[in-house]
Amino acid sequence: MILHIKKNAPLQLLLDFYKAAYFEAEETYVLITSSSVKEIETSHKEYVDYNKTFESDIQLASKDYITKRSIQIGDILIGGQSNNTLMITGPCSVESMEQIETSAQFLIKNNIKILRAGCFKPRTSPYTFQGLGSKGLDMLVEMREKYGLKIITEAKDATHIDEVIEKSDIIQIGAKAMYDHGILKACSKTQKPVLIKRGFGSTLQEFVQSAEFVLSGGNPNVMLCERGIRTFENKTRFTLDLCGVSYLKEYTNLPIILDPSHAMGYRYGVADLARACVAMGIDGLLIESHPNPKVAQSDASQQLDFDQFVALQNSLIPVAEAVGMQMI
Ligand code: PEP
Ligand code: MN
Repeated sequence: MILHIKKNAPLQLLLDFYKAAYFEAEETYVLITSSSVKEIETSHKEYVDYNKTFESDIQLASKDYITKRSIQIGDILIGGQSNNTLMITGPCSVESMEQIETSAQFLIKNNIKILRAGCFKPRTSPYTFQGLGSKGLDMLVEMREKYGLKIITEAKDATHIDEVIEKSDIIQIGAKAMYDHGILKACSKTQKPVLIKRGFGSTLQEFVQSAEFVLSGGNPNVMLCERGIRTFENKTRFTLDLCGVSYLKEYTNLPIILDPSHAMGYRYGVADLARACVAMGIDGLLIESHPNPKVAQSDASQQLDFDQFVALQNSLIPVAEAVGMQMI
């Protein structure tokens, strides 16, 4: 149940009684109990301005609470009443100053506002490139300062989350970190936008509940990112769950970003998948692109080169228009 509680209510008593999470809003405290709570104690009713019960612990993210949330990233608006599909692109990892600056210049040339690149890489093998860490993050910050781009980079554990929150414009929580409560909790205490990637072995319920951790700490700026789940199929890297995207659109209020690059795992399918994603009327796309994908230090097989990216970008414009959206 979500309760809006008067500011002069005995907050601690109510928190203890309902074992609730809460955050402070302008004119109210928002308390969120387990969805199994269906009734308010009679003696508490005088403190409650609003209350709503839910079938499951998808509550703050539910359309039954707020129809559609929007997120402002600088002068960019997604979700809510906007009809923007935001393009986010850049290499899998920051590899060097030269590589990231070539990428930044490519984005500027093609009118793209958000640069992605990982610095703290959650690799599946300890013997592969692990990312440049803080040095890479500082290079991204330099790209923001020099080119006016917004930057998104991932946090893979709590050791560097504060640094990522401080320096990036959007915090990416990677698929493998979706359950990391240290990260989720830290992200709930900032107002910066957070992009949560769906764990590849996670149900939609678990995925959205991760978002609830961030929302229930008081950060409303959460985006959901579907990036493929593991199925029996192994010809492609993962399976992009577009049925799940329909579910998220129907039942949740959060902006939805799709990542066909990690789902597919191979360059050849990324453009087709991206067009299918945009045709679903989503809020954003995350595509990996690299100045020279063949020598990329991570995810080399799926990153688009610049010519491939531009061809894809052009082909997305009419697809977005066909569903009442515009690529930005
Ligand atoms: C990435 O975006 O480069 C990445 C590692 O993604 P994911 O967490 O979806 O695997
Ligand atoms: Mn990657």
